[in-house]
Amino acid sequence: MPSVRQLLDLQAIDIDLAKRNERLGVIGERLGNEGELPALRTRVGELGTSAEGIAARQSELDSAIADLSGRIETVESKMYSGAVTSSRELTDLQADAAMIGRRRSESEDVLLGVLVELDEAESELSETTERLARSETEWLEDQERLAQERTVLQGGVAALDEERAAQAATVPPPDLVVYERVRKTHAGRAVAHMRNETCASCRVGVPSKIAQTVRASASPVPCPNCGLLLLAD
Ligand SMILES: [Zn+2]
Repeated sequence: MPSVRQLLDLQAIDIDLAKRNERLGVIGERLGNEGELPALRTRVGELGTSAEGIAARQSELDSAIADLSGRIETVESKMYSGAVTSSRELTDLQADAAMIGRRRSESEDVLLGVLVELDEAESELSETTERLARSETEWLEDQERLAQERTVLQGGVAALDEERAAQAATVPPPDLVVYERVRKTHAGRAVAHMRNETCASCRVGVPSKIAQTVRASASPVPCPNCGLLLLAD
C-alpha cells in the first residue's frame, strides 16, 4: 500500500489535534482572565464615591436651609412680639427677614439641582452594580464551562497523541520526514487527492507521466504545482 494513504490518515489525526490544541489555547487565555470585570469594579467604586459626594452636598444644603429658616423665625418672632415699636427698627427687621428669605430660596434652588443629580448618580450606581453582579455570575459560569471543556479536550488530545504515534509508526520514516516538511509549509496539510489526473487541492492538471508515477509509486509524489503529496483515488 502506498504510504501516502497512511499519511492521509495521519493528516486527519493531525488536523483534529491542531483544532483541539488551538481551542485549548483559546481556553487557556480565557481561564483566569477577568475581561471587563476589573473595569466594572473600578467604575462601581467611582460612582459610589461620586454619589457620596453629592449626598454630602445635599446634607450641607439641608442644614444651611434649616439654619436660614431658624434665623427667619427668630427675626419674625422679634417683629411680632410687640417688643419692637420703632418703625425704623421694624423696617430693618423686615428687610433682614426678606434678605434671609432670598438666601434660603437660592439655596433651595441649588438643593433641587443637587437632588436631581443625586437621583441620577444613584440610579447609575445601582445599574452598574447590578451589571457587575450579573457579569461576575456569568464569568464564573463561563469559567466553569471552560474548565470542563478543557478537561474533555485534554483527554481527547491524549488519546489522539497515542493514535498519532501508532499511525506514524506505520509510515516509513523517510516518508514521514517528507510529510512533516510539506505540512509545515502548507498550513498543516500535506496530502491531496488526485482525481482524473488533477490535484484536488490546487485544481491544476497533473502531467500524465507524473500521474502514472503517483499511481505506481510506494513513496509520496508531490503535486508539481502546489507541492502537496498526491494520493491516487
Ligand atoms: Zn496541487
